[in-house]
Amino acid sequence: MTIKDYLKDTISNCWALGHFNFSENDALRAIVESAAELKTPIFVGVSENERKHIGIKETIALVRAFREEFGIPIFLNADHHKNFEAVKEVVDAGYDAILADFSKLPFEENIKMTKQSVEYAKSKNPDIITEGELGYVRGESKIQTEVIEIKPEDLTKPEEAAQFVKETGVDLLAPAVGNIHGIVTNNSGTIDIQRIGDIKKAIGENIYLVLHGGSGLSELEFKNAIEAGVSMVHINTEIRVAFTESLRKTLQEMPEETTPYKVMAPSVLAMKKVIAEKLKIFGSVNRL
Ligand SMILES: [Zn+2]
Repeated sequence: MTIKDYLKDTISNCWALGHFNFSENDALRAIVESAAELKTPIFVGVSENERKHIGIKETIALVRAFREEFGIPIFLNADHHKNFEAVKEVVDAGYDAILADFSKLPFEENIKMTKQSVEYAKSKNPDIITEGELGYVRGESKIQTEVIEIKPEDLTKPEEAAQFVKETGVDLLAPAVGNIHGIVTNNSGTIDIQRIGDIKKAIGENIYLVLHGGSGLSELEFKNAIEAGVSMVHINTEIRVAFTESLRKTLQEMPEETTPYKVMAPSVLAMKKVIAEKLKIFGSVNRL
């Protein structure tokens, strides 16, 4: 099955693909092992900074190796690539999917740059999956204690979403629907489920919605969002937190330990626990 087959299936059978970020081998292993155990296809993503840390060639080689070892579909996505040169680099390297994120630019500029990225990507690889972002998803992939105020103009308007997908040619759309990147400790806002449904209706059945900023949302919010038309959910911060909290604890408990794989082992388990919980909530189990 191709990525598009799976995307179509998310709508007919009401579930969502999990998208998890990594920047080193242990997080990638945790994601793949969880997905393999639950028998689900999986998206793994690297932002520009994450892939600068691990290396662009290394991401390709590692994902290929994990596919061979585990025999499940693993799709490599360039998450939030914010300039055309960066998009070109990952397309040329052979990524399966890209998020050309020009959402900070004014509407017409966002369309222009996204369209340019999509055209380049499809010219190099007709099967590549392209995503654009419309609206402003605030926040960063960390624990945020400050109040993050979502302004009405941040939110994606269904009629603009329809125009955006038509003019850019993207396969996936990341809307701003009250979601925030990172874990927000001080959030009174909620996900605008009605808006998700309206946007999905406006963009049509062949374009799929991606919910960013999944970390910290409740099970009910995920389920409602998926029912309203979300086909993929991004989780990053919750794995980062599981990794670092576990690592801090391990280092404290084993101050004499110097073997890296012994120090890292509990962190891999902690990440796997978070990933498996999410995949179950997304209805991703047994979807191969
Ligand atoms: Zn994101």
